[in-house]
Amino acid sequence: QHARTCLANQVANKSYNAFISRATEEQLLRVVPDGENASTQRPLEGKLIAIKDNICTTDFPTTAASRILHEFPSPYDATVVSKLRDAGGVVAGKTNLDEFGMGSHSIHSHVGPVSQPSSMEHGEGQLSVGGSSGGSALAVATDQCWASLGTDTGGSVRLPAAYTGVYGFKPSYGLLSRWGVLAYANSLDTVGILAKDVDSVKSLFHAVNGYDKKDPTSLAESSRRRITELVEQRKRSGRYRIGVPKEYNTSGIDPKIKSAWRATLKALQSKGHSIHPVSLPATKLALPAYYVLAPAEAASNLAKYDGVRYGTRSSGPDTSGGVLFSQTRSEGFGDEVKRRILLGNYSLSAEAIDNYFIQAQKVRRLVQRDFDGVFSLRNSLVDEGGDGEGEGERVDALLVPTAPTLPPLVKDVKRQDPVAAYMNDVFTVPTSLAGLPAISVPVKTDHGAARSQIGMQIISQYGDDELVLEIAQCLS
Ligand code: GLN
Repeated sequence: QHARTCLANQVANKSYNAFISRATEEQLLRVVPDGENASTQRPLEGKLIAIKDNICTTDFPTTAASRILHEFPSPYDATVVSKLRDAGGVVAGKTNLDEFGMGSHSIHSHVGPVSQPSSMEHGEGQLSVGGSSGGSALAVATDQCWASLGTDTGGSVRLPAAYTGVYGFKPSYGLLSRWGVLAYANSLDTVGILAKDVDSVKSLFHAVNGYDKKDPTSLAESSRRRITELVEQRKRSGRYRIGVPKEYNTSGIDPKIKSAWRATLKALQSKGHSIHPVSLPATKLALPAYYVLAPAEAASNLAKYDGVRYGTRSSGPDTSGGVLFSQTRSEGFGDEVKRRILLGNYSLSAEAIDNYFIQAQKVRRLVQRDFDGVFSLRNSLVDEGGDGEGEGERVDALLVPTAPTLPPLVKDVKRQDPVAAYMNDVFTVPTSLAGLPAISVPVKTDHGAARSQIGMQIISQYGDDELVLEIAQCLS
């Protein structure tokens, strides 16, 4: 029944451009068991799940919203996709995104931008759905699927979740397999989950989580066991110490976000949790470091789309002598992707590497140490004694806004220079640099209007994913 409702919504909401390709009614009804006849009780039986189009599936092309891959048929399913199919989940289709995951508003797409429904519109026009997993977020928000998978390199699951009013969970780096996920910045890339409630996030997370020998960065079984032991040693009183990092309380935050932040802290307090100020001094360096590291990795990862190894080859005149590559890439990539490739190649060049790439790697380490210095749980990836030096109070989790502002108008975003657009990610990238789990929780505000969609982020120590979900549950 639910599948039929989703299908009807997909047809009715076509103009939002949330999907790049999707299953037909016939295809779906063949795989979705009929309500009462559904016998096997696998955890995701018959649930419609939309997949961001930078995750490989065999039943639809995988385009990354790029012209260069516009008809790429993957010969295999990504591990996360086969896992969700094994659990009974049904792939509803592939969702729209910023090309290769590069962007914050889902407007850099070969098939056109994702747009908000008019009920979510502001008087002055279309609001941003966030990005880059904007299609996955909107598909969930408008009930075109039960839940969806996105990818989060620097906030791409959390920001669209915040802007569309759904839950967006980025697990610890290495928990969910990246095999079959098109790499943007592989040391930061994670697969994330979007859904309307925490229980759905949990069931999808548990179905796709697990070691995968095909992904060299997948967290080994032994490390997973070590984390479980560490987490179990913690006394579970159900009351947690919640930290508020003073560096996040900047003057650039919209007053509505600040008041929602305060209200959320109060709500936690009223449930018996305690609030503690903490300090993460390297926070303001995180954004520039991210925008050096992510493009550097992207420049390297995207080198394979040359029309020979991968990508739609340019059909121009004789393209020998290197012209084939440049012509294919000039035609195939959009402007934002080209900008990142240029930026990345520059910061990796002999002339710039010491001042940019190496410095950014050092900042990344500082950001990680900052977090280790405030969490009471030890970072299981760091040797004993390698904890941060923080002498202040230790906390179990942090609560910060997901974004500094409400969803901006698309027309304003289009006028912005790229650096201003990057500012949106200021609260999401530190956790990405440190590989930590974080969830964006939609919080209710006094104003019912869509313009007041606000997301609050819960962040915890590496591997403490269940805690993040437990606190999210407590806020819902
Ligand atoms: N907006 C960020 C970027 O453009 C994050 C993208 C992402 O997480 N994929 O890099």
